[in-house]
Amino acid sequence: MITVVGSINMDLVVRTARFPKQGETALGDLYTTAPGGKGANQAVAAARLGGSVNMIGAVGTDAFGDELLRNLEAESVGTASVKRAEGTSGIANILLSDGDNRIIVVPGANHSLKAEEMAAFENGLKESGIVVMQLEMPIPVVQRTLEICHQHGVPVILNPAPADGFTEDFLPYATYMTPNETEAEELFGPEWEHMLEKYPNRLVVTLGSKGARYFDGQKHVLVEGFKTQAIDTTGAGDTFNGALAVALEEAMPFEAAVRFANAAASLSVEKFGAQGGMPSRQEVLQRMG
Ligand code: ADP
Repeated sequence: MITVVGSINMDLVVRTARFPKQGETALGDLYTTAPGGKGANQAVAAARLGGSVNMIGAVGTDAFGDELLRNLEAESVGTASVKRAEGTSGIANILLSDGDNRIIVVPGANHSLKAEEMAAFENGLKESGIVVMQLEMPIPVVQRTLEICHQHGVPVILNPAPADGFTEDFLPYATYMTPNETEAEELFGPEWEHMLEKYPNRLVVTLGSKGARYFDGQKHVLVEGFKTQAIDTTGAGDTFNGALAVALEEAMPFEAAVRFANAAASLSVEKFGAQGGMPSRQEVLQRMG
């Protein structure tokens, strides 16, 4: 079983020919809502690939909360540990214009979770084959979950996004860390490549279309990305993390697991939306050849 502890948001997407200036009103040409949040995205990615997935998180008592829960259930993600918190669900207000975007995230219910509440989930965490987390949750919740997993010897993939939530305290506890290149630089500075050697087979940096790299204890390994026509790269990293969890839980060798994650993520960029493009296991196996 894979447990994802993380954010659940509704993405509110508005497209406009140009961004309004301060105090101005601009006309948009498209509005759509889509379930998102890094946690929910990673859970859906893993479930589509055949993982048995449980989600720990929170949605609000608003209508989006109902819809977000329905979406997870439709994707076969277990929601028994998703709390209903008084107030609004987390949302991401996404403005798109001419290939550029401006995003405001309001965490809402996601930030209602408390570190003390994690004790109630200890049994579920203990029985997990692997736990996946990102940093869109209150940091004390992340820290407490890392401690519980460490205590029970449960491996954790920590996707340090957004990077500003990261603290060095996480390092001894995170079994795997999966920053993208920008996040790696934010966390470890321009010399981040040296950090790969410090965390062999643990720190994997994703490199967009180039794939992902890590250090295997002897040498640096670049696992090349799969060439494809990218339509929308939203959710590529989330798909990578969900797929990596599935592969590692199945005890795939590390390099094969990263290749599986690259293949899944390359398929996800071929369609619009974060969850919209997430592939099935069969599609991934086909791509891997
Ligand atoms: P994030 O989405 O978090 O910014 P990356 O851009 O590094 O992270 O992408 C994560 C993974 O998605 C990459 O390691 C790669 O496997 C896959 N990927 C991203 N963009 C492309 C692309 N244009 N073509 C093929 N694969 C891609």
